[in-house]
Formats: sequence, C-alpha cells, structure tokens
Amino acid sequence: MHWTDTHCHLDAPEFDADRAEVLARARVAGVTQMVLPAVEVANFAAVRALAHANGHAYALGIHPLYVDRADDGDLDRLRDALAANHDDPRLVAVGEIGLDHFVPGLDRERQARFYSAQLVLAREFALPVILHVRRSADDLLRQLRRIVVPGGIAHAFNGSEQQAQAFIDLGFRLGFGGALTFERALQIRRLAQTLPATVPVLETDAPDIPPQWLYRSAEARARGERARNEPAELPRIAATLAALRGWTLEQAASITAANAILALPRLAALGSSPPGAGTRR
Ligand SMILES: [Zn+2]
Repeated sequence: MHWTDTHCHLDAPEFDADRAEVLARARVAGVTQMVLPAVEVANFAAVRALAHANGHAYALGIHPLYVDRADDGDLDRLRDALAANHDDPRLVAVGEIGLDHFVPGLDRERQARFYSAQLVLAREFALPVILHVRRSADDLLRQLRRIVVPGGIAHAFNGSEQQAQAFIDLGFRLGFGGALTFERALQIRRLAQTLPATVPVLETDAPDIPPQWLYRSAEARARGERARNEPAELPRIAATLAALRGWTLEQAASITAANAILALPRLAALGSSPPGAGTRR
C-alpha cells in the first residue's frame, strides 16, 4: 500500500535532529508521497530542496500566521518564485494560504489582503491552493467565489456540512488528519463518514495535530512534554477513516491517493517516491 500525506511541514525545526529517520519511518509505513507546503518566503528554498531530495512535492505560499511578519514585497517574491518554478513538476500548489480567525491578535485586514493576492497568483499560474481554514470558512469561500482558482484542498477542515459542501462545489477536497482520531470529534467524524468518497484526502500536518495516541494532556504539556506528529502516523490515521467509511485499508489508500491527484493534478506525474531516494537533513 502507498499513502500520500497531502500536508506535512517536513522542513520544520522539530525535525532538524532526526529528519532522515522520520523520512525512513515514513517509507517503511508506506507513506511514499508527501506535499510540503511553505509558510513564508524564508522557507521556499527549504521545501523545494527537501521535495527534490526525497521525491516529494511542495507548495509555495505565505501562511496566514506568518502574514504579520511578512512585508508587502514578499508577495512579489512569491510571484517571482512561482514564475521561476512553474515548470518544476514537483511544485503542485500555492500554499499554505488562508485565514486564521482563531489565534488572537492577528491583523485580519492584512491576512485578507495577502489571501486575496495569493488567490490571484494561483489563478494566474493555474495552480490549485492549499487552504488553512480556522474559524474562517465563510470568509475564505467569499473570496473563492470572486477569484476562481483550480480547486485544491481545504486543509484540517473543521466546519459545518454546509461549508464543506460549498468548498466541494468550488472543486475542493477536504483534508482529514489527527483530529479525526478523537472520539469526541463528532462533527469531523460525521463529515468524514458522509461526504462523497471523492472528497477526503489524508494529511498529518506534522509536526502539528498529533493523533489521539500521541496526544499529551494539558498537565503533561505544562511539564514540557510535547507531542510531535510525523508522516509515518498516516496509515493509522487512515485506519480511522477506513473504519468510519466501511473501507478496507487498501481501499482507503487507493481512494485517498486518487483524491489527492484530483486535488493536486501534478501529483499524478510524480507517483510514489523511489524507495532508495536519498535523504538529507
Ligand atoms: Zn500546515
């Protein structure tokens, strides 16, 4: 079985000490394709280099939580990077972009401006987008109706059925990950169970969104214990999706891999990364 982790921040500092081992564990687990979204101009080169070194894919964009420290010229730098890499088959999307209305103290107006500008770039370069959706689905959808892009993924989706349908109507797939593994995540589980089979894609968002079996209690976190998610967890997360849908694990692997290609068509040409591909720290 081969799995595609459609959202993994493999370049994050959390992996600096053992990135090669993390990649090796992913391969052993059958996670042979990954999409590495960028978060700011400063990590564009890193996600690109990692994707090339390991046979994976990447996206370029400015994450809503990084908008406050970005300067306006960064949108021009993103445009230049998209132009320079547009013929690179491993560049599969503009991302991670979006709106975060959960984290307090962010400049919403600035987030909205960066989001819209990046949708315009996705449209210009005919690339799908990887969306960060956090208490912001309706505002994201409003701009998507105005600036039409070639679909993509609403990552870590946690909205209503109506909002899910609105993303689907605009050609989007929805990303499911560690949150799905919590029994109390009733709304996410209901969506994962009932949405059309062509909709769910799998993701870890590693090192974030640890699944239930890696989760640390508030007390443990207060003691400094931190859970780190990694792409090798994907098949076990997928088992939750398979159980909810009544799929075998094999079906879950093939259906979600096909959905990932529907969302990010350039993945089709990449296939699975060669097992012997070199790793780098
Ligand atoms: Zn992310």
